[in-house]
Amino acid sequence: MSIYWQKEMETMNRSDLARYQAEKLRETVRQATKSSFYGAALKQRGLAAEDIRSLADIDKLPMTTKEDLRQHFPYGFLSVPRDAVIRLHCSSGTTGNPTVIFHNRHDLDSWANLVARSLFSAGARPGDVFQNICGYGLFTGGLGFQYGAECLGALTIPAGAGNSRRQIQLMKNFGTTVIHAIPSYLARLHEAFREMGADIARDTKLRLLVIGAEPHTEGQRRRIQDLFGVKAFNSYGLSEMNGPGVAFECECQNGLHLWEDAFIAEIVDPETLEPVPEGVVGELVMTTLDRQAMPIIRYRTRDLTRFLPGDCPCGRSHRRIDRITGRTDDMFIIKGCNVFPMQIEKILMAFPEIGSDYLIVLETVNGVNEMRIKVEVSPNWFTGEMEPLENLRRRIQEEVRDEILLTPEVRLVEPGALPKPEGKAVRVQDLRTREGE
Ligand code: AMP
Ligand code: ZN
Repeated sequence: MSIYWQKEMETMNRSDLARYQAEKLRETVRQATKSSFYGAALKQRGLAAEDIRSLADIDKLPMTTKEDLRQHFPYGFLSVPRDAVIRLHCSSGTTGNPTVIFHNRHDLDSWANLVARSLFSAGARPGDVFQNICGYGLFTGGLGFQYGAECLGALTIPAGAGNSRRQIQLMKNFGTTVIHAIPSYLARLHEAFREMGADIARDTKLRLLVIGAEPHTEGQRRRIQDLFGVKAFNSYGLSEMNGPGVAFECECQNGLHLWEDAFIAEIVDPETLEPVPEGVVGELVMTTLDRQAMPIIRYRTRDLTRFLPGDCPCGRSHRRIDRITGRTDDMFIIKGCNVFPMQIEKILMAFPEIGSDYLIVLETVNGVNEMRIKVEVSPNWFTGEMEPLENLRRRIQEEVRDEILLTPEVRLVEPGALPKPEGKAVRVQDLRTREGE
């Protein structure tokens, strides 16, 4: 049995786990106080590490926002001397100062361990050939999975993003068994297989996919599984909490175990910041428990999810979260209706006639804000005939209207017509002018 089935920790009973977390929380607060940001914030509240006696005392601690990280850029959260830091990563945000996260040796080892444990829980094993198809660099998916998969004992191919033909060549040459990629890329990879006349089952040894880093629906996951003929496991993480290895689906594929020995997770109402009842969707708030260079306390992730009730048949006791249904900041309001992009994706993915790519465009036409959904038709279905296209268009429009109570313009486009960014998919393009607000 691999050392990445960490049975004692992964199946620890809940009361022991709570005690363990309280101890680690106290240590984390002690460490965080060494940073200028938390040093001042805790002093202002008259709080010290010793005030954390049980897990419930986390309530006393202030929450941390992305804005805090930005304002104290770059070193305001650093809790060790600058020369003890050996790596930094940034989050993929595009406006203002980036958020930067620092790691020392201990942090990187602890992160790699979590990723290795996560991969193991999804069924990857030492000896697997792991092809990491995502950007290497400041984005955490590259190096995060690289070190995690090495730690597990897989032969790790740092393939990087894009260049589908080369990816397929690598898969064939080295007998890739496990792939990690962002879900929006996989439809493209599959298309490249088709173009090359290659067949996944016949020409590769692929047996497992890991998908994450961007929101996707259960329908999108099913499509990916059908295309590749293997199971796809959801991987959730964010750079503020290392990156991948925060929460991961085990072989049961029924929600993502969140590693509670390394993080405390709370789910709160984003307006009141009060905890929501178990099973209700709210904003995920997270605290690191095993980070030295840059501990973060009660970080408001803006990601919306819920704790799933009940035990998992795999025996792991760490609670499971549901797939992320959206972010508090990706909801848009149009004509008075609140819309999350995943509500639209959910409807689109139920139509076998359409492909995996779509784009929601918000624009102002004659002073009025309108919503247009551009959808790629599936290459298997596209014939160029007008009547079936018009029927499909109308059905999509009606179903979206029933869901969001607003009639969008739906435009069907040819397979491959929408822009394909190299990193995370862009699902909403907001071109509205002030005039039309
Ligand atoms: P970054 O720190 O730039 O890598 O971005 C992290 C963000 O990506 C998270 O806060 C989520 O919004 C999103 N994300 C990461 N993994 C997933 C996932 N499995 N499902 C949905 N969203 C995800
Ligand atoms: Zn499980």
